[in-house]
Amino acid sequence: MNLLNEMFLTIPSLSKNQAFARSVVAAFCVSANPTLEEINDIKTAVSEAVTNCVVHGYRSGEGKIEISAKLYEDTVEIEIKDYGVGISDTAKAMQPFFTTKPEQERSGMGFTVMQAFMDEVKISSEKDKGTTVFMKKIFEKKEPLDA
Ligand code: ATP
Ligand code: MG
Repeated sequence: MNLLNEMFLTIPSLSKNQAFARSVVAAFCVSANPTLEEINDIKTAVSEAVTNCVVHGYRSGEGKIEISAKLYEDTVEIEIKDYGVGISDTAKAMQPFFTTKPEQERSGMGFTVMQAFMDEVKISSEKDKGTTVFMKKIFEKKEPLDA
């Protein structure tokens, strides 16, 4: 796999940066000529991951969110990292409808959405150290325009 492009972005943990982050990652993917559906899938997954950093990782307090992405010919790999509270049981956290914030009308579907829209989702987390979400999307093959 040939690495074609790479990006790094550090932003403060603010809820408005969820929209900013997803637009940046979408723009980064454009050179791979993704379909609108693929772009929307990536935007949705990035939004969910960044929202989790803000509301869970930093509990709406201060902190830094690091986003990096790598673009290959037919794949994008995205990593979203916080240095917040961490997750003690990642397998449990990934289950549909599991949430630690039901009082904030969270539905516990963020990780399920990420898994549905991306080809691979992996979480690594350590209590009080932070959380990293790794996601991968494989773009569908397109016929060359001049074929
Ligand atoms: P929804 O995403 O539907 O609003 P939710 O955020 O609770 O609800 P998920 O995104 O699936 O659901 O996350 C499940 C749980 O995993 C959260 O309730 C939280 O306890 C934990 N979690 C997720 N991301 C993080 C993070 N970055 N730092 C700490 N805990 C997290
Ligand atoms: Mg969530």
